[in-house]
Amino acid sequence: MSYDKEFAAAKKAASIAARLCQKVQKALLQSDVQSKLDRSPVTVADYGSQALVSFVLERELPSEPFSIVAEEDSKDLRKDGAQDTLQRITDLVNDTISIDGSYGSITLSTEDVLKAIDSGKSEGGSHGRHWVLDPIDGTKGFVRGDQYAIALALLDEGKVVLGVLSCPNLPLASISSDYQHSADKEVGCLFFAKIGAGTYMQPLNGSSPVKVQVTAIENSEEASFFDPLIRNLDFPKQKLGVKAPPVRIDSQAKYGALSRGDGAIYLRFPHKGYREKIWDHAAGCIVVTEAGGVVSDASGNPLDFSKGKYLDLDIGIIVTNQKLMPALLKAVKESLEEKASS
Ligand code: AMP
Ligand code: MG
Repeated sequence: MSYDKEFAAAKKAASIAARLCQKVQKALLQSDVQSKLDRSPVTVADYGSQALVSFVLERELPSEPFSIVAEEDSKDLRKDGAQDTLQRITDLVNDTISIDGSYGSITLSTEDVLKAIDSGKSEGGSHGRHWVLDPIDGTKGFVRGDQYAIALALLDEGKVVLGVLSCPNLPLASISSDYQHSADKEVGCLFFAKIGAGTYMQPLNGSSPVKVQVTAIENSEEASFFDPLIRNLDFPKQKLGVKAPPVRIDSQAKYGALSRGDGAIYLRFPHKGYREKIWDHAAGCIVVTEAGGVVSDASGNPLDFSKGKYLDLDIGIIVTNQKLMPALLKAVKESLEEKASS
């Protein structure tokens, strides 16, 4: 199976959705303090991004059965009092389609937008094909004007076969532990990976893609870490002899940055009881594995995307290269045992 048409459609969908998100983020950052505290810009961008991805996929792949597992549905937008928000979303979606120009003079109605959002009602699973979408991953970063991603992947019979990560604020150049978001840097990266075909990155503004590879570092003392900004169990990194401070950024931009060798390790150990969702990892996972990396849970099992909306994990997610994985698994196991006995 080549998935070429699906791959092209996914890249297009994630790139167009990024334009909508950029527009909303720009307006949000220019707005006054009062509206920065208001969640509605995020809501508008979240739904707008999902509607656009769904619209583009349906247009580009008209003959394929279509279902998306995604974070949003239109229930709240159908409630009384939500008409203004729905109209804002519809206007934004139509503006973005019109600026892109590839779909003629098409204009979606509010009902079309609701339907497009509701394509995201699939439960996923191990049969057939399902798109997996996080329309804005890392909403906290989005609101701060920092990192976020539009993350889109395709599952076929429960396996991730392609993934695209659109990271509008990620610098094109490598980021390191002194990373600070800055408007001066050239930003906007699209990562894409297809099973068996490697991972590529290109600037979101369209120039040629380059093949990327995870770092070849073998010595954990030289390794640098990505940390999520969510509450993470504090793993004793001393065990690995790590010296560099972690790079802390929101969203699956961490997977993208790791796939091009910016850092070597990403550990994600949220509090007990938190269930990871497939849309927070599907695209990132294939972007890293096709770049030569490994993604596993604390027991060394690969992530299983075939179980529906949730990942069934033995706590935690570990992302690194093949060489460092054994040492990491050992350090994580020892840390967990120490924690259990303390
Ligand atoms: P990150 O930007 O990597 O910190 O992760 C952001 C994603 O984590 C969001 O899209 C949420 O779906 C998910 N998330 C929300 N709350 C938690 C939590 N308590 N632990 C782990 N992940 C969470
Ligand atoms: Mg998310």
